[in-house]
Amino acid sequence: MTATCSVCDGALDGFDQAVCDSCERPFHLPRRTDADGIECGRVWVHDQWLTLVHACYRCLGEMPEKAASASRPSRRRYRRVR
Ligand SMILES: [Zn+2]
Ligand SMILES: [Zn+2]
Repeated sequence: MTATCSVCDGALDGFDQAVCDSCERPFHLPRRTDADGIECGRVWVHDQWLTLVHACYRCLGEMPEKAASASRPSRRRYRRVR
């Protein structure tokens, strides 16, 4: 059972990942915010449904160019706190 991330094409370990609600493909999403994992998408709480919404950067249109060469370990990319 080997899955690859739809954003950076890297291997997924089965833990730090989520499935995009839009394209329904798995992507990297660290479970803990202080983790050093790769982040290839976002999760937030939907205003009306109050459910968790997952979206990969590909669907968000925030495809980081660095993701193409995803061998860089803990380089923080966008971190918008809002
Ligand atoms: Zn990824
Ligand atoms: Zn997606």
